Amino acid sequence: MKENKHTPCCSIAPPDLLARLAIEGSHEQQEAAVRALATSAAMRSQRAVVGRLNRQFNLNMGQMMGFTISADRKLTVYDTQNNGRTFLPGVRIRGWGEPAVEDQGVNEAYDGSSATYDFYHDVLQRDSLDGAGMELISSVHYGVGFDNAFWDGGQMVYGDGSGRIFQVGALTRALDVIAHELTHGVTDYTAGLIYSKQAGALNESLSDVFGSLVKQYSLKQAAADADWLIGEGTLVPELGKALRSMSHPGTAYSGDRQPGHMDDYVDLPDDNDPRNDNGGVHINSGIPNHAFYLAATALGGYAWEKAGKIWYQTLVARLRPNTQFDEAAQATVDVAGEMFGAAEQNAVRNAWQEVGVLT
Ligand SMILES: [Zn+2]
Repeated sequence: MKENKHTPCCSIAPPDLLARLAIEGSHEQQEAAVRALATSAAMRSQRAVVGRLNRQFNLNMGQMMGFTISADRKLTVYDTQNNGRTFLPGVRIRGWGEPAVEDQGVNEAYDGSSATYDFYHDVLQRDSLDGAGMELISSVHYGVGFDNAFWDGGQMVYGDGSGRIFQVGALTRALDVIAHELTHGVTDYTAGLIYSKQAGALNESLSDVFGSLVKQYSLKQAAADADWLIGEGTLVPELGKALRSMSHPGTAYSGDRQPGHMDDYVDLPDDNDPRNDNGGVHINSGIPNHAFYLAATALGGYAWEKAGKIWYQTLVARLRPNTQFDEAAQATVDVAGEMFGAAEQNAVRNAWQEVGVLT
């Protein structure tokens, strides 16, 4: 049972936002928030078990569960037709290389996972999430007006959004949301960072880092020109502009508690209260997020060319399940020196010093 306590539950909606809306929101928001929280909680144990098996035995659970394997890139989108988890993955709608269909959500999940695959393949020379061509499985139209998207340890799942918390259809429209969730798969297969406190905040931050990089890469956008927002335009406008801001942590939505400096670190217990967010994993991730933003903008050019490669190499080769902020920071500094040189190493060290993680 101990492992379940630290189970990654990788849904995109900030749990403290859902919890606040469940308590203080309008009647309609309360109803939507409670539904999103309840379903996310139910996914936790499945994700823990699948993720652990993937890592320990190097199994592809997608294959073991009998999903279709197509030639070339393995990517399939299913429709859960507004059913719940017992119906996953749902009805097969579109596989790799098959033409676009009428359903926009299916096409967006297809395009978003394909773009994420391309980024990992072309920029980081990684073949899918497990590095061995694992099939990318997505299921859309999960639940009824479900306000969340998540990686369950074996596949991606997207709700339609209720229009009360998330805009209808927004969760498949946002490429960085898709890449964020899929990166949880990469982290599961590599560092295996536990989803609790600082290690969990590093896990969350890495998903934001590569989520933002996949978006920047698809737009061919330099670090200086990126918006550094995660899930821009996914929330209903009265709640805020995005889920997180890497350049200005704490400003993405109303009630955003993300710090951008260790002086403001929010020390929360890892209990089952969604307001405490597994010990602040979506909250304190603002600190390593801001360090990445500072390093990437200081290095200039395209963020994936240097900063992204440094963070990726650190993720796959240096981080461990319980790595803390200061250890991760030092690891990126070391990797920057090994991969590039003194100037890059200084830029990375300065970034972590600016957020108070290194002295
Ligand atoms: Zn996440």
